[in-house]
Amino acid sequence: MYAIRADHAFDGTRFLPSGATVIIDGERIVGVEPARCELPDGIEVAECSGTLLPGLIDCHTHLIADGTFGGLERTATMSDDQLDGVIIGSLRAHAAAGVTTVRDLGDRGYRTLQFRERPGLPRVVAAGPPLTTPGGHCHFLGGQVDGDVARAVAEHGELGVDVIKVMASGGFATPESDQLGAQFSVTELTAIVEAGHALGLPVVAHAHSLIGAQNAISAGVDGIEHFTCLTDSGPRVDDSFLDRVAAQDITVDLTLSNDRALHSAMTLAVLPPAMAKLMEISGFDSFDAFYRTRLDVLARLREHGVRVVAGVDSGMGPIKPHGNVWRSVGEMVGAGYPLSEALASVTSAAADACGLAETTGRLAVGCSADLLVVDQDLAEDLDTLGSAHEVVIRGARLR
Ligand SMILES: [Zn+2]
Repeated sequence: MYAIRADHAFDGTRFLPSGATVIIDGERIVGVEPARCELPDGIEVAECSGTLLPGLIDCHTHLIADGTFGGLERTATMSDDQLDGVIIGSLRAHAAAGVTTVRDLGDRGYRTLQFRERPGLPRVVAAGPPLTTPGGHCHFLGGQVDGDVARAVAEHGELGVDVIKVMASGGFATPESDQLGAQFSVTELTAIVEAGHALGLPVVAHAHSLIGAQNAISAGVDGIEHFTCLTDSGPRVDDSFLDRVAAQDITVDLTLSNDRALHSAMTLAVLPPAMAKLMEISGFDSFDAFYRTRLDVLARLREHGVRVVAGVDSGMGPIKPHGNVWRSVGEMVGAGYPLSEALASVTSAAADACGLAETTGRLAVGCSADLLVVDQDLAEDLDTLGSAHEVVIRGARLR
């Protein structure tokens, strides 16, 4: 048994005015007390003047992708050993940044499932290979389904996935896929959702196109990833559409959290052709101009009462390294979210979306001891979230 004490603390939903002393026994939190509490003799205490909070959760990662351009596509020809090596490197990068749980929304060969609870590495919530249409987005990951979608969901369930991921539109990592169109009909998507729910599994849909997002919503998915709402004349996010998403209580993950310092290098000339074409038809003269419209959508999601969580799509390129999810907090605050709400989106709300409400994302007795300590008062200095001082994963201190 040991304790970690910090002058400042955020418990997953709110700041604790008296800081916190979190007492840990084995893998679990067994006590959450004020910073200046008396502890029984013999309990080792790690003291910190900064902020103690639950470890962060990245709701959208690809552990098999190494953070270089084309990393996901290259996995098509990699051996299992090579994939496992990349997965371990990705998990270490997350851990070093204070990320203690990741939701992997697309692997190959179900390789991520065996990394769910490796000592010293973040917990993995795994989707396995995403369901896609023949030749559709990320078909090279092995999740192509032609016809019997319920059977494909059942197979995923038998192999033990935690969540079903379905590609409801094309994507930019698969240039030949239809980014502006739909993959799967509403009937098929509904069958996927029903099959997933029958197994107790949430279903999240990748949707870059507006029609893909509309179809996914009609099918009753639990979450939408990207939510780019592209049409052939650019992104289109109507107020009535946001109201519908809110009314159905669908969780949206815009997959932002980019390292924007690198955006200046993303000129239209170096973008993937499909992305460059999108910029052109939408009238954006730079990638960052497009990204700013995404931040506007982030603000509007809150205004419309949509449940928002933060995922990075980490691993998908240099602007999306593993361990980057902390940046979403600053983005949300910039978009008008109160700090506590922004922090909840990477802790307690993210845990809820991952089906881990009772397990992690909170400084609460009985929860897994997944903790992050940063050096400063987070309420005063948000950038401190980018430098982990101490990370605890299921009770084990990493540094
Ligand atoms: Zn993704």
